[in-house]
Amino acid sequence: MSISELQAPMRTIMTPGPVEVDPRVLRAMSTPIIGQFDPAFTSIMNENMEMLRQVFQTKNRWAFPVDGTSRSGTEAILCSIIEPGDRVLVPIFGRFGHLLVEICERYGADVHTIECPWGEVFDPQTVIEEIGKITPKIVAVVHGETSTGRMQPLEEIGKACLERDVLLIVDAVASIGGAEVKTDEWHLDGVIGGTQKCLSVPSGMAPITYNERIETILSKRKKVERGIATQEDLLFSRSGRPIASNYFDLSMLQDYWGPRRLNHHTEATSMNYALHEGLRLVLVEGLKPRFERHKFHETALIAGLEAMGLTLFGDPEHKLPCVTCVEIPYGIDGESVRKMLLEAFSIEIASSFGPLHGKIWRIGTMGYSCRKENILSVLGALEAVLIRHRAKVNRGEALQAALDVYTKPIHN
Ligand SMILES: *Cc1c(COP(=O)(O)O)cnc(C)c1O
Repeated sequence: MSISELQAPMRTIMTPGPVEVDPRVLRAMSTPIIGQFDPAFTSIMNENMEMLRQVFQTKNRWAFPVDGTSRSGTEAILCSIIEPGDRVLVPIFGRFGHLLVEICERYGADVHTIECPWGEVFDPQTVIEEIGKITPKIVAVVHGETSTGRMQPLEEIGKACLERDVLLIVDAVASIGGAEVKTDEWHLDGVIGGTQKCLSVPSGMAPITYNERIETILSKRKKVERGIATQEDLLFSRSGRPIASNYFDLSMLQDYWGPRRLNHHTEATSMNYALHEGLRLVLVEGLKPRFERHKFHETALIAGLEAMGLTLFGDPEHKLPCVTCVEIPYGIDGESVRKMLLEAFSIEIASSFGPLHGKIWRIGTMGYSCRKENILSVLGALEAVLIRHRAKVNRGEALQAALDVYTKPIHN
């Protein structure tokens, strides 16, 4: 058998992740490997922590990446605070709410859920009333729900959780770096970000942050691996139950990312390089201008889609700026359209999950993929492919509408 050299096509990626990666991040990934305790590497780790604090808009001591895809960050936070029998409330408004339930259940939590139709979000008061009824230890909720393209307002929920001494854990995997995520101002106790979405770094890491309320729980459950424990570590009397997972034990990960530099896993060298360059680019652009860029290209995309005669899906008031959901026109095979976009134009858009599968397409405008030429390409190609599929669309309107947005003077 002869296998040829690795080859991957060039794609225009307009999905909710993984998205295109800035060439500077790809270049950073080919930086030579150095040891995990090399001072040159630990200083890169420290800089990553500092940049993550800025991106999470927090003064928390702890902000670092967990190695693994985004859900590893979710699992790390949840398994480190859940003890069997703990009550958790999960408001579900799409696929990733179900993921939170799934993770909590595996660690023995007593999970209560409320659901709203996909395409909508919760009135914060509904969640707050439910917190009053259930009196959970933890509320776990998604911020940017990519499966439906909606964004849940969190500020009031955060305030209510703080007042009632409930921990609020937030999946901000899709929103971090693309929309405001105000960890401290909104009183979010633990937040999970994603790399392969609006940060435009490959998948394989999950940046997280958490505050002292979670630190206090960790200090009661703290463990040091037997093979590397000192006499003092072995004598430590734990008042809480040890964390069920070794890999995701935040008390051990803290000792690795903190000044003690106690070995846990082997830190993912090239991914730390990628994260370093990805975060640096986010901060050079500036958070506010970056969020405005996502909104601006979203406006152009929506103008184009509507001019084509397509219908957007979901509650427009709570739209996630980096994901635009479009109803598949009646009688059109959504998968055939996606296939032709990929094969003829090298453009990838997404379908959706569960009740929305076959009903909507999802167009991502995240991070480095969120650029004018990409918006124009996807609009032009989608129109051509829909005409090819005999869909009724307004010919020639979409690109003109998007170009109108792009050529409009900004200050008027
Ligand atoms: C993509 C995504 C995830 C899952 O991320 P993985 O990196 O695939 O583990 C979780 N939550 C939300 C909201 C997402 O968009």
